[in-house]
Amino acid sequence: MIPDWFHWLAPFLVGACVGSFLNVCIYRWPLGRSVIRPGSHCHACGAPIPWQHNIPILSWFLLRGRAACCGVRIDARYPLVEALTAILFAILWNLWPPALATAYAIGTAGLLIATFVDLDHYIIPDEVSLGGILAGLLLSTLVPALHDADSWWGGLKESLFGAAIGGGGLWAIAFLGSIIFRKEAMGMGDIKILAAMGAFLGWSAVPFIIGVASMLGAVIGGLLLLRKNKLWGVRLPFGPFLAGAALLWILGGHRWMADYLALFTSG
Ligand SMILES: [Zn+2]
Repeated sequence: MIPDWFHWLAPFLVGACVGSFLNVCIYRWPLGRSVIRPGSHCHACGAPIPWQHNIPILSWFLLRGRAACCGVRIDARYPLVEALTAILFAILWNLWPPALATAYAIGTAGLLIATFVDLDHYIIPDEVSLGGILAGLLLSTLVPALHDADSWWGGLKESLFGAAIGGGGLWAIAFLGSIIFRKEAMGMGDIKILAAMGAFLGWSAVPFIIGVASMLGAVIGGLLLLRKNKLWGVRLPFGPFLAGAALLWILGGHRWMADYLALFTSG
């Protein structure tokens, strides 16, 4: 018998290692560099990082947030991304059957990259958005359960429809917004990432994600304005809010939505 805690520890450790790779993608993709070569090296002095200084989450604490080679400060965001990925993978693994959990974990990895690259650069790399559409279509074919479908064709059809509603819906909102407010409210990156979310999660996730992301954006944007936070200035990227809303959907939002809609249809 496999002990109970192992079902949490194993996906946590896998998630921590994946999170370490996500840090590489977050740093290198916007710079147009390869995420495979060269191996991990110090951003300050270029020295290669030996494996014992590159253990996800742990090394940052053991080295007290400084590089062993030259002592340059290492941002706390690195262990944070690793811990976040680890915790999310552990929850997903225990929430869904293996094939579904794996598909959601791949989607979640994309959401984390999109979030942190958007915070840093105000862009969402095509590797994540266009790659996410392709991954969503492929995984929906392999795991039709993503859309409650029972055949590969059923899964693919739902995925294509979801991508069209996701991309098309947000494009229409952005188009209307640009006419009404006479300024760009959303970038192409947001539109492409919502198409990817539709491909993974189906069309019914799209109104949930747009609604929840807009609410989160309004609340947090308002709080930042009140505090006159200079961190993000007046420009707030929308990608992290879309990603947060998609994550809520994956973690149970589609069940809450079904329960909520049932209130109206049953009454
Ligand atoms: Zn160094």
